[in-house]
Amino acid sequence: MTNKLVNLKSFNTLGLNAFCKSLKIIENEGDIETLIKDSKKKFIVLGEGSNIILDAPINSPFDVPVFINRLKGISIIKTFNQRVTVRCRAGENWNKFVFWTLENQFGGLECLAGIPGSVGAAPIQNIGAYGSEVSDLIESVHAYDVNRNLAVTMSNKDCTFGYRSSIFKNNTSTSHFSNFIVISVDFSLSTDWKSCRKVTYDDVKNLLPADPNGFDIAETILAVRRKKLPDLEIFPNVGSFFINPIVDIDTVNRLRKEFDNLPTVNFDGRFKLSAAWLIESCGFKGIRFKNVGMHRKHALVLVNYKESTSQEVLILANRIKSYVKDKFDINLKIEPTIFSSSEKSTYLG
Ligand SMILES: Cc1cc2nc3c(=O)[nH]c(=O)nc-3n(C[C@H](O)[C@H](O)[C@H](O)COP(=O)(O)OP(=O)(O)OC[C@H]3O[C@@H](n4cnc5c(N)ncnc54)[C@H](O)[C@@H]3O)c2cc1C
Repeated sequence: MTNKLVNLKSFNTLGLNAFCKSLKIIENEGDIETLIKDSKKKFIVLGEGSNIILDAPINSPFDVPVFINRLKGISIIKTFNQRVTVRCRAGENWNKFVFWTLENQFGGLECLAGIPGSVGAAPIQNIGAYGSEVSDLIESVHAYDVNRNLAVTMSNKDCTFGYRSSIFKNNTSTSHFSNFIVISVDFSLSTDWKSCRKVTYDDVKNLLPADPNGFDIAETILAVRRKKLPDLEIFPNVGSFFINPIVDIDTVNRLRKEFDNLPTVNFDGRFKLSAAWLIESCGFKGIRFKNVGMHRKHALVLVNYKESTSQEVLILANRIKSYVKDKFDINLKIEPTIFSSSEKSTYLG
């Protein structure tokens, strides 16, 4: 039986060996309905696997099929009043799409250059970087609604975007059942190339030439990201492993009494804490546990040093969570989606 299993190692950027009994590549929109029906609505859908933890060792593979979304195509839907609506299908690579928009002199996505993954996954956790969130540019999301068995168009409002969250993000982790398959995303971008060049982050702003264009911003962000983050090819990882906690003023005041150097950022009337700072303060930056560790360049990035297992990843994650809880009374939340073949996995925390 084992020789029929598919290893998903090359389908997740953390490079975990994880196994499934059936893997299907979605290349045509028309196939989706049949695939969902055949799977009895229980499946895992992936893009490029850069925000997932696959917990399915060889002796406990996924019973449900794994779908890889590779729907391709970019088209201009309409232009109106210095805005353009661009439709991009879910299986396009995010960074390539960002550069396609810049080549066409459409502004808006430049601060999100360099984020790994597919376009279809961008709305799932409302990707963001350098002061920009993709929800600011999404007009609507076209998806297959698994429960209602039909293709739907969801407006930006319907998607209930929040910080690293949306209606699509399955926060229950142990359930591998997605309610939607994203087919394409409509972006509202600016045709006024100049108006949207707002870069608020000093480490990017200070490196920009005078009067930068969208390419200058995107290229500068790529360079800053390269400097800050471990090289994915050498250190398999999923980017930020924990979400920055959003807290109220009472929590900030409580923490400041003890930690007067606590970094905070105003966030819609609340405060964003730095998960990296919390983790580093607990002594985890650069530490190694078996084959995994928190990278020496960035305390928030959990890396797979060599053939690590999902168990090692989740044990280290839970250890960090409990240290941060003890020291700061803050609950860290794991950012990537965890897909586990066992509902009873003891490592899920
Ligand atoms: C080095 C590195 C840096 C990163 N930096 C950032 C960053 O700056 N900001 C940020 O926000 N994120 C960042 N990430 C996380 C990641 O790049 C994003 O979350 C990205 O959008 C994931 O895309 P993906 O195609 O790899 O999704 P996957 O990892 O394949 O899937 C992620 C989730 O989306 C779901 N999903 C994927 N495609 C679909 C679809 N078509 N329909 C329905 N559900 C779907 C999956 O089921 C899963 O729950 C980083 C990751 C890495 C490795």
